[in-house]
Amino acid sequence: MNSLWTRLFAAFVLVILLVSLLIGLGLFVLLRNSPLVDRQPLAELTGAVRTALREGSRPPAGGDPAALQRYVGDIAAAYEVRVLMLTAAGQVLADSSAGDPLPDFNLRTLPRDAADGVRTGLARDGQGGVWLFVARGVPPDRLIVFAQPRARLSALTLFLEDILWPLMQAGLIAALAALGLALLISRSIARPLQQMAGVAQGIAQGDYTRHAPTGGPAEVRALGQALNAMSAQVQASQQTQRDFLANVSHELKTPLTSIQGFAQAIADGTADSPQALQRSGAIIHQEAERMRHMVADLLDLARLDAGLRALDRSPLDLRLILSAAVERFRPRAGEKAIHLQADLAEHLPPMIGDGERLSQVVANLLDNALKHTPSGGRVVLAAAGAEGGVEVAVKDSGAGIPPDDLGRIFERFYQVDKSRARSGGMGLGLAIAKEIVEAHGGRLRAESVVGLGSKFTVWLPLARPDDSTLVRRKDRR
Ligand code: ADP
Repeated sequence: MNSLWTRLFAAFVLVILLVSLLIGLGLFVLLRNSPLVDRQPLAELTGAVRTALREGSRPPAGGDPAALQRYVGDIAAAYEVRVLMLTAAGQVLADSSAGDPLPDFNLRTLPRDAADGVRTGLARDGQGGVWLFVARGVPPDRLIVFAQPRARLSALTLFLEDILWPLMQAGLIAALAALGLALLISRSIARPLQQMAGVAQGIAQGDYTRHAPTGGPAEVRALGQALNAMSAQVQASQQTQRDFLANVSHELKTPLTSIQGFAQAIADGTADSPQALQRSGAIIHQEAERMRHMVADLLDLARLDAGLRALDRSPLDLRLILSAAVERFRPRAGEKAIHLQADLAEHLPPMIGDGERLSQVVANLLDNALKHTPSGGRVVLAAAGAEGGVEVAVKDSGAGIPPDDLGRIFERFYQVDKSRARSGGMGLGLAIAKEIVEAHGGRLRAESVVGLGSKFTVWLPLARPDDSTLVRRKDRR
């Protein structure tokens, strides 16, 4: 009973019933005021006049009132109607029901002379009664009128006798047609919905191979497309999760294996000399540090992802933050004989943000630049006001990033050259930097030419109208 087609059928039948009822009511109201109702009784009256004048005795030619009265009385009795004889001017000469109220036969509705044929019409008497009448001229210059009271219920009778049944038949036929239509329509609507339900169930059970139909009416099409998009999204996010887990385990396994090996060497006495012991200890420490670093990065990402930790927002002197970062990296640049230069605009617009986090971003970019730039190279940190915000760029003359990798370096754990990166990173630095910049409502982008160098540009908006937009939940794929 709850299926689509039964509901559609019920709706159709309800509409048909309602429409039939309205049509019936409308017809009834129209009929009450329609001349159609009087047509049949008038035709009968006309027939009676004709028959009476053709077959019956002729009206007395003379002006004898008693003869006239007898004449109309006889005809009235024969045809069971009221019969009157009038002059051409409308004056009553004889009336079969002389005591009854006299209907007002409007002169204009009456024939003018005997040759004028038959006229029919409605007349009201003084007491509100309505009469149907038929008038006909009779020689030499008189009129004979057949009249009968108009039946009150004639409209209802006509409706019940002549209209109700055909109307019900039409309603029945329409209901049958509705049944067929309801079946067809419900099937065409229900089929894609059933398919979509199947797809949704599939997604719930981890089956992403089925696709929802994307044809049919606009709403169904939109639903199908949304479902397919959702399926793709869920699939992608599950894949990301799996990759993420695989990456984390892989990255943790390497230092753990190393720690395990050297700890074993200490435990079973393989590392017996003081130097070997010291070296083992140093490596264990270094690898543990690497793991601690990675776990801290992962925690960072998780917090940024969940939007849990609001940025510690305060007015910033960006110039101060940037120069401090450059100074921190100067010794490392000196060691590698890289020329580290700060190109900071004299006046950077004041801004609001999390100084520590932004400092982390710049440090990460400078660290990468120094890591990938050979001795004798050059790294420039530039900052200046830009459309609606501040632009900070870190430019190096290093190895550059191949175009295929450039689009992926902001992904978690993505490293351009795994073996080259073994020196330290785990491919999380840029992902974190991007999250922080975006949490500030800014953008981070990279340009690079292999062999010439790379440029990472951070754009940060000046004022944030709404605090809550600072930490946005990211819709990760
Ligand atoms: P990691 O911590 O491993 O350096 P990042 O997320 O910071 O990870 O960087 C991702 C990848 O992008 C790195 O593997 C590195 O190869 C590449 N990369 C980042 N910055 C530069 C740069 N300035 N020049 C060349 N390659 C870079």
